[in-house]
Amino acid sequence: MRIKESSTPSKAGEIALDPLPARFDVAVIGGGVVGCAVLRELSRYRLELLLLEKEADLAEGISKGNSGVIHAGFNVPTGTLKAKANIDGLYRTYKLARELGVPHRRTGKLVVALDASDRPRLEELKAQGDRNGTPGLEIVDESAIRSLAPNVRGLWALSSPHTGIISPYEFTLALAACALANGARILAGTPLTGVAIRPEGYLLATPRGRFTARWVVNCAGLWADDVAALAGIEGYRIYAYRGEYLIADREAGSVLDIPVYPVPARDDSFLGVHLTPTLHGNVLLGPSSAYVEDKGDAATTRAMMDRLKAEAFELVPALRRFPFIHAYAGLRPKLTDPQGKVKLADFIVEESRLRPRWVNLVGIESPGLTAAPSLAAMIADIIGAREDIALRPDSVAERPAVPAFADEDDAGRAARVAADPDWGEMICRCEHVTRAEVLAAVRNPFGAVNLDAVKRRTRCGMGRCQGGFCGPRIVEILQAEGVPVERIAKRGPGSELFYGRNKP
Ligand SMILES: Cc1cc2nc3c(=O)[nH]c(=O)nc-3n(C[C@H](O)[C@H](O)[C@H](O)COP(=O)(O)OP(=O)(O)OC[C@H]3O[C@@H](n4cnc5c(N)ncnc54)[C@H](O)[C@@H]3O)c2cc1C
Repeated sequence: MRIKESSTPSKAGEIALDPLPARFDVAVIGGGVVGCAVLRELSRYRLELLLLEKEADLAEGISKGNSGVIHAGFNVPTGTLKAKANIDGLYRTYKLARELGVPHRRTGKLVVALDASDRPRLEELKAQGDRNGTPGLEIVDESAIRSLAPNVRGLWALSSPHTGIISPYEFTLALAACALANGARILAGTPLTGVAIRPEGYLLATPRGRFTARWVVNCAGLWADDVAALAGIEGYRIYAYRGEYLIADREAGSVLDIPVYPVPARDDSFLGVHLTPTLHGNVLLGPSSAYVEDKGDAATTRAMMDRLKAEAFELVPALRRFPFIHAYAGLRPKLTDPQGKVKLADFIVEESRLRPRWVNLVGIESPGLTAAPSLAAMIADIIGAREDIALRPDSVAERPAVPAFADEDDAGRAARVAADPDWGEMICRCEHVTRAEVLAAVRNPFGAVNLDAVKRRTRCGMGRCQGGFCGPRIVEILQAEGVPVERIAKRGPGSELFYGRNKP
């Protein structure tokens, strides 16, 4: 059978790999939070696993551009897969974050009514949450809002005490690291470009060679429709809706340490421009929501930044005092079309009727970060219903948290520096990241060799100077680690920082 090839494959990553087996039990396509959660869940079983990710690093897609909120499940319509996976995922996400040492915090959340006419909508949301099984919801008045979040304006609020925040890319990377420790194989910089059907399974074409897998789990996010089409599965259509964000300096955390949302629209299309503190004290303003033709169009615009500020200042006027240090955008993989023909759409998790043992996860928009561990458990159930899969007795479930140097007390810092002088050299002055941490990031098992990969693992470049100080130092470290300077990139092929040498 002919391999169906898609567009020209991009250049594969440059990581030295152990020889790979050519046959796998399961291939996961896509290294976002969903694919990595699936890989980790399946790695608890005696299965040979492979994950293919087209970008140079994991968590390069939707999983890096979101609000990082662990949703408690009251925004999603009752009876949907979204609601089921959100509530189940809420518990699983907290448990996994603890087990895998991922930074997170149960902050609580307020949905704030600025006007008395919004109170009925809060009641509706509470009723929906109660039906879904969201724990602890309560409608609170102005004085309770003041005591929970002194700088937030509002007459009434829905308080959700079990909502939290998590670092979405650190979560994704930790899930992948756990799977790796259980023997799964991960190839970044390796797009799936073609599929052929063979008696022994699916023959998967990539720029790094061909692999056979008995099962394929399509977790390709915005491109899940295209990946399904490679196997001849037509009929899915994903529309990208861009969500722009603005990031306030980390001192803004002093006025807001709990996510604050406006009262959302009734059609489930968008939660509204909200304010989310990060674990490091920054505050995210956004996201907006607008359909974009190009699934890769993550541009940010001046007009939207002005709108985000105006809407955010309505809820938390004190934020006006703080500088904004960066803007970014995430892209929602929606099944609802811009013409409005499909108004509400659920997550799709299904084994293809046309292609047995090929499972598609499509339309995994918010709350997909929270739901990912639950969706992963569903995949194990789908495979387990079709064949006997035995748990590995020796699988690794926990990963010790290594506190960042910035979070250590003086004695802890001194002990690290005494053990290794690389802990004593500050590479990122804004976020207090040391050479030892950058080296650990560069030597990570997925072979991350670009600035954004180092940033997601260390926070280098996330501070006020946005990489002005640490960028050149990281380039030097990458060169010393053997990466030719002309191949050093911001985020992978096509974003190289240097064109060549101007001196011999
Ligand atoms: C603006 C915004 C805010 C959000 N806020 C929240 C929130 O606060 N809480 C929450 O729970 N959820 C939130 N979400 C939803 C959540 O971020 C997503 O549901 C989740 O990240 C989806 O993960 P994923 O793994 O499916 O997709 P992705 O992270 O995009 O992963 C898919 C991967 O597949 C790869 N891929 C594509 N094609 C191929 C191919 N041919 N071969 C190999 N690899 C391929 C891509 O490169 C990508 O890395 C938000 C989403 C957005 C956009």
